[in-house]
Amino acid sequence: MRVYVNGRLVSKKDAVVSVFDHGLLYGDGVFEGIRAYNGRVFLLDEHLRRLYASARAIALEIPLTPKKMAEAVVATCKANRLRDGYIRLVVTRGVGSLGLNPYLCKNPQVICIAGAIQLYPKELYETGMAIVTVGTMRNHTEAINPRIKSLNYLNNVLAKIEAINAGVMECILLNPQGFVAEASGDNVFIVRGSELVTPPTWCGALRGITRDAVLRLALEHGYTAREDVLTRYDLYTADEVFLTGTAAEIIAVTEIDRRKIGEGKPGPVTRRLAAAFAEYARHTGTPIE
Ligand code: PMP
Repeated sequence: MRVYVNGRLVSKKDAVVSVFDHGLLYGDGVFEGIRAYNGRVFLLDEHLRRLYASARAIALEIPLTPKKMAEAVVATCKANRLRDGYIRLVVTRGVGSLGLNPYLCKNPQVICIAGAIQLYPKELYETGMAIVTVGTMRNHTEAINPRIKSLNYLNNVLAKIEAINAGVMECILLNPQGFVAEASGDNVFIVRGSELVTPPTWCGALRGITRDAVLRLALEHGYTAREDVLTRYDLYTADEVFLTGTAAEIIAVTEIDRRKIGEGKPGPVTRRLAAAFAEYARHTGTPIE
């Protein structure tokens, strides 16, 4: 494996950052998870736009133009002969003092890893998954805005621990007002009749690239799709619920907090959108060659 570190493609063992990097010391940095399908990087421009927006939000200046960053991602895929896989793009604040002051960190580190992805077990895509809502609430938007895809994922990790302790693999976090925000690593949608609803980002959700793609695909397929505030009641009583994310793609949720959702199996809208998404992903993206 060759890993991109600050402009160089190096071996896995040489792909290292300093223990004084504020990415490690404080979770100070931003990242993206991106997919490659069929020899193309899926929605690379959208991911880069979000990466640069996350960096802007934390006053981190990325030392590369988006164009150069896109070239770095493609070069990393090429060096690893990646056609289908997962790309992790990371920008850390860089080395600084042991204090918090980010302005003392003069060299942000840019890392790109192109490898394999661990999806949920294949069977779960056939059966749908059981999830729970958890007590860990989503970060307040004025604490750490969940729109920032930062290296500080403890909020999500704490929620994931609760999910695993409850015997399931994913969970829903509510925001400080008690409204549905998102899953620990995915966005959430409900289906009511032919309408899809997902929480607005101000409720504490990342603006998922998959979420945006699903909103577009839903309209193309004759569904209505909108953002609205959702409660746990809305989840429990929906016809269908599904999660979206770069790694998960689209996965049906068939049980939440021991309530069966709809028929208790992946519903027709979820299945149709999952198929449409798979087709879209195969043909959309920046060529690696
Ligand atoms: N929410 C969170 C907290 C995430 O980590 C992710 C995965 N990046 C998502 C939602 C889904 O976003 P995307 O579709 O861009 O992967």
